[in-house]
Amino acid sequence: LQLLSRQVAADVARVQAYEAERRRAEQLEALDRAKTAFFSNVSHEFRTPLTLMLAPVEDALADREEVLAPRQRERLSLVQRNGARLLKLVNSLLDYSRLEAGRAKVAYQATDLPAFTAELVSHFESAMHRAGLVLTVAMEPLAGPVWVDREAWEKVVFNLLSNALKYTLEGDIEVSLREEGAEAVLRVRDTGTGIPAEALPHVFERFHRVEGTWARSHEGSGIGLSLVQELVKLHGGSASVHSVLGQGSTFTVRLPLGKDHLPPEHVLTGGT
Ligand code: ADP
Repeated sequence: LQLLSRQVAADVARVQAYEAERRRAEQLEALDRAKTAFFSNVSHEFRTPLTLMLAPVEDALADREEVLAPRQRERLSLVQRNGARLLKLVNSLLDYSRLEAGRAKVAYQATDLPAFTAELVSHFESAMHRAGLVLTVAMEPLAGPVWVDREAWEKVVFNLLSNALKYTLEGDIEVSLREEGAEAVLRVRDTGTGIPAEALPHVFERFHRVEGTWARSHEGSGIGLSLVQELVKLHGGSASVHSVLGQGSTFTVRLPLGKDHLPPEHVLTGGT
């Protein structure tokens, strides 16, 4: 009987421990949801006043009839540049929290991905040129269209290219798109600072920034790559990085071809 009661006591303790663990997990989940909601609300609340503040500044700078002294123009440009930077950050935070909460609005559309990607990359030509970098674009035709949310794909390409530009002092940046297996594979390769091996597993984490590496500008929040990762996952794809410190980095994004893996209610008909 003693043996049996010891056995029962051990079982009760196990059940209690399990219960406590489950409650802790629930509390953590609730905390995580509250944090996401907080990000989302704050970003949202910041966006409207920021947009309203930026509009008259941009109008004043664009209006040819408005007479601005050079010093005024300089000051307004500073306000405009930093306001735009803040707005970009707020928008990225909002995108990220929507994705995390599963509330992202997506519409997958059949897209000629090489053509669309080449067009997005072309926006970087002059900035790369001014920075003394050589930009190579190698787009191979794919067997068929790829279903992407175009706004999401634009963010993926823009984030990877702005990082390549930001972290490359000299050399070249190559953007390629080709079919491998049943996937469309985008690679952005640079000859920049590279990423230390110990930081590599963390670069896709939210707010993670590698300290001490050289950058063309220190603007940044550590949200870009986590957004890339989430957006790519939304397409059933994956994002990865290969990098050697001091030599450069290659970011690879893989998207499955076809649309069978996508939720049909978000797949648009027509397109390309
Ligand atoms: P950030 O806003 O800091 O650029 P990201 O999420 O885009 O945030 O990137 C996270 C970190 O990964 C960066 O702070 C940087 O240290 C590193 N990183 C990203 N892209 C590159 C790259 N092409 N070359 C070197 N380091 C990079």
